Amino acid sequence: MTDHLVLDEYEAGELSVEYDAEEPQEVLKWALERFSPRIAISEGGGAEGMAIIDMASRIRDDVRVFMMDTGRLPQETYDLVQKVQDRYGIRVEMLFPEASHVQGMVANHGPNLMYDSVDMRLLCCQVRKVLPLNKFLHEQLDAWVTGLRREQWASRAEVRKIEIDHDHFGIAKVNPLADWTKEEVWDYIKDNDVPYHELYDKGYTSIGCAPCTRPIEEGEDNRAGRWWWETNAPKECGIHCAIYTGGFEHELHALLGKNGHENGHVEESTPVLTMNDDGVVVNLEDAEHKVPSQ
Ligand code: SF4
Repeated sequence: MTDHLVLDEYEAGELSVEYDAEEPQEVLKWALERFSPRIAISEGGGAEGMAIIDMASRIRDDVRVFMMDTGRLPQETYDLVQKVQDRYGIRVEMLFPEASHVQGMVANHGPNLMYDSVDMRLLCCQVRKVLPLNKFLHEQLDAWVTGLRREQWASRAEVRKIEIDHDHFGIAKVNPLADWTKEEVWDYIKDNDVPYHELYDKGYTSIGCAPCTRPIEEGEDNRAGRWWWETNAPKECGIHCAIYTGGFEHELHALLGKNGHENGHVEESTPVLTMNDDGVVVNLEDAEHKVPSQ
C-alpha cells in the first residue's frame, strides 16, 4: 500500500517526539510549510476540525479543507460548510462516492442497509466514505490533517501528532489536537468565536451521517451516539483505521466488479477482527446487532 512515502520512519519518529509537547498551532505551522499545497484538513462537522480550520487560517490564506459528502449528511452539516466559506473564504472540497457503487449497493440491500448488520453498515461506510477518501488522498495529497484526539476512543489512544499513515499510501497524517481534551477544544471554539455544528446544541457529542448518529444519553460515552444499535462493534467507519471482517469485503468486491480496487485496499484474505467498547480486539462475529431505536 505504501507508494508515496513522504516521511521515512526515522524522520517520522523524530518528528513525533519533537512535536509531541508542542501546541497545535506549531504542529500545523510545520505541516503547512512542509506540505502545502498537497495538504488538506479533514472536516466532517466535528468541533475539532473547526478549531483546526480556525488555527490554520491564521497561519496561511491558502488552506485546503475537504469533507466527504456521503449523501446521508444532516442539513446542519451543509450549513456548517457554508459558514466555513463565509467566515474563512475557504471553498470546502466535497468528496462524493462513485454513483455506480451507491446504486449497486442500494439496489442490492436497500437504502437503510446499515441497520441490517454490522457488515452492511461497514459496507455502506466503505462505499460512501472510505473509497472516496482513499482516491482523494492517493491522487491529491502528501499529508492530511485530522481532529483525532487520544481520549476519544480506545482505537485512538496511540495517535501521534505527526505520523506516517500506513493505511493510506504512506502519506503523512497530522493530528495537532492529539493530546487535547474535549474541554480544551470547546474552550478554543468559544474563546475564538469559531462556528460549530448546530447539532452540538441538541445533545450530540459526535457528528456523522444522519441515519447513524443520535444524541447521547446521560452517562454515555461521547461516541455512544454513533451506530448506537451495535454492541461490541467498532465506533469507527474505516477512515482512521482499517477494519476487516471478511463479510462486507465480499460485497464490496461484487460492487467494484473485481477482486479489489486500485485505491480501495480491498484484500482477498482479511482477518475477522474488531474492537469492543473496552478496546479489546474481538471477533466481529461476536458483535451484537440490535434493531435501532431513537
Ligand atoms: S455512517 Fe451510516 S450512512 Fe454514513 S456511510 Fe456509514 S453506514 Fe452509511
